[in-house]
Amino acid sequence: MKIVIIGAGHGGLQAAKELSKNGFEVIVYEKNSPQEVSYDWRDDVEPTVFEKLKITLPDNSRKTSRTSFVAPFSETPFYMEKEENANEWSIKRNAFVLLLVKLAQESGAEIEFNTPVQKLIVEDNEVKGVIVNNKKIFANLVIDSSGIDSVFRKEIAKIFNITENIDDNDVFTVYRAFVKTADGEKLPENHKKKVYLKYLGMPGISWCICEPDGLINILIGRVGEMHEREFKNALLKLKKANPVISDEIVMGGKFGRIPVRYPLTKMVGKGYVTVGDAAFMTIPITGSGISNSLRAGQILAEEIIKNNSVSVETLWKYQVKYYEEIGAEHFFVDYMKRTLLTSDNENIKYIFESGIITEDDLCNFSSGKGLKFTPQELMFKLSKCFKKSHFVMSLISALMKGIKAKNLAMKIPEKYDEEKIKLWQTKVERLFS
Ligand SMILES: Cc1cc2nc3c(=O)[nH]c(=O)nc-3n(C[C@H](O)[C@H](O)[C@H](O)COP(=O)(O)OP(=O)(O)OC[C@H]3O[C@@H](n4cnc5c(N)ncnc54)[C@H](O)[C@@H]3O)c2cc1C
Repeated sequence: MKIVIIGAGHGGLQAAKELSKNGFEVIVYEKNSPQEVSYDWRDDVEPTVFEKLKITLPDNSRKTSRTSFVAPFSETPFYMEKEENANEWSIKRNAFVLLLVKLAQESGAEIEFNTPVQKLIVEDNEVKGVIVNNKKIFANLVIDSSGIDSVFRKEIAKIFNITENIDDNDVFTVYRAFVKTADGEKLPENHKKKVYLKYLGMPGISWCICEPDGLINILIGRVGEMHEREFKNALLKLKKANPVISDEIVMGGKFGRIPVRYPLTKMVGKGYVTVGDAAFMTIPITGSGISNSLRAGQILAEEIIKNNSVSVETLWKYQVKYYEEIGAEHFFVDYMKRTLLTSDNENIKYIFESGIITEDDLCNFSSGKGLKFTPQELMFKLSKCFKKSHFVMSLISALMKGIKAKNLAMKIPEKYDEEKIKLWQTKVERLFS
């Protein structure tokens, strides 16, 4: 069976490795060169995924340090101390993707760089292959691992009832740069990793992190489009608050886009399946996009291998499993994200400074793990709630709706039945409209 993978994304490469190891003929087309693939900077990844997928990290990977969060308009950061083994891994993005490429090649997959896929071949409402270098390449399955702005998802959206476009509010626009420490400035002892929530009132996060190698890692991010004037002002203020930031860029210095919404309610069609950002599998702040994409690629390969089939029924099993393991939780996280981002800054400041929400809660929430409290913690949080009862009530209401959205997502039809799937899609999507 022949499988074409569009893009050397994490999910696509993981699937490529497993499928080719099990006798499938796999070819990955990547539009960029090996040097240009992914990013030149470091990012954090949730640690357990490497063990689960038996991936040995590249030598230059390292564990991350503690974080201090800064609530909106607050000058007082507060800290997150994590257990040593709970820390994430910081990896060099380009090196990591090239490692996945090597592993896929060693398993027998063919990888063609500098080769953009131009279009899908669609006949009789079924994807039959791709067009590359103006040539038709037929395949039994096309895996779309081409990222958030997949043009292929758009091409087949109508025939497979797949969400075509991503709303502005479902995209996190990010500027990322690693700069040298400014001359004469010392790295602060206690504020090495500062994360600002709703920086300058923008719906999003910004950060200034002093890396162990002496570089300063800066991020300015907001949900929706970031206008030039807004970005310049934020950068200026971030520099003023953190004089260690110089103008000398060593890595990055560019903008990126990250999906911040619940995953696609339909990721599959005849001859076609999506993984990773193309299926909106990311919920930042903490590293989830890379691990979710890797895990999705693994689940997809396992289902295909187990069933020795690429039928739409088999592909649907992949989606169900992804939802059960990871995806359904993101409906809850998405609901809370929407509530927090549209809430008044003073109220947000109170819930963080009073301890109603701690940094650990935030991390668990943003990585899709959900919120779990002991009875004592719950009592403490409730006691702090009285002062802002109106706001807290609206948070509780959002919490309940988030749980409802997650539960509905978990009710994903077990078997591929187009009518049942459409009905379920309409129900879940209505909760977010
Ligand atoms: C600034 C920034 C910071 C981030 N930080 C983190 C973090 O700390 N931790 C984390 O887990 N995630 C982070 N993410 C998210 C993470 O990058 C994504 O979730 C992850 O890369 C998704 O992987 P993917 O498998 O979907 O493929 P992608 O990494 O999106 O790769 C898609 C590939 O497809 C290729 N492609 C596109 N179109 C075509 C075509 N027509 N033909 C051939 N190839 C094509 C692209 O060149 C690319 O190589 C960050 C993202 C950004 C922008």
